[in-house]
Amino acid sequence: NKNYMKLDFLSKSTNEAFARVVVAAFASQLDPTIEEISDIKTAVSEAVTNAIIHGYEDTEGIVTIESKIENQEIEILVYDKGKGIEDLEKAMEPFYTSKPELERSGMGFTVMETFMDKLEVASHIGEGTVVKMRK
Ligand code: ATP
Ligand code: MG
Repeated sequence: NKNYMKLDFLSKSTNEAFARVVVAAFASQLDPTIEEISDIKTAVSEAVTNAIIHGYEDTEGIVTIESKIENQEIEILVYDKGKGIEDLEKAMEPFYTSKPELERSGMGFTVMETFMDKLEVASHIGEGTVVKMRK
């Protein structure tokens, strides 16, 4: 049983909770456990927050979520057309943050990796960032 959805929203921090709830509602058709839903919400929240505060740091832009359900699995894409990541390998290391002054802990990607079964990130300077997760 296949399904698909796409959601575009403005990169405002108030939309982070909204995005997380939409994905949780979409995922609920898989009859997930409370823990699985909580894991998905946490991972989506990290990816969306990154798009808002890093991708579009001094601007506003569109954050997109696409999600596919197939074979009892959910795939979630979170992407922005923001500034992109210069050194992806470094960015994905635990505790690396480009914004220590904002009291970020640099654990976003680590959290996504921990709570989802698969994480892939692609990014190009000036073009944006795509985070692909599966569970
Ligand atoms: P935390 O998520 O713990 O609050 P953080 O956001 O700095 O801190 P990560 O989420 O792991 O940590 O991201 C690591 C770094 O990767 C960020 O500091 C930022 O430099 C870069 N980054 C992550 N997502 C994006 C994005 N969508 N666009 C541009 N840069 C990004
Ligand atoms: Mg983060």
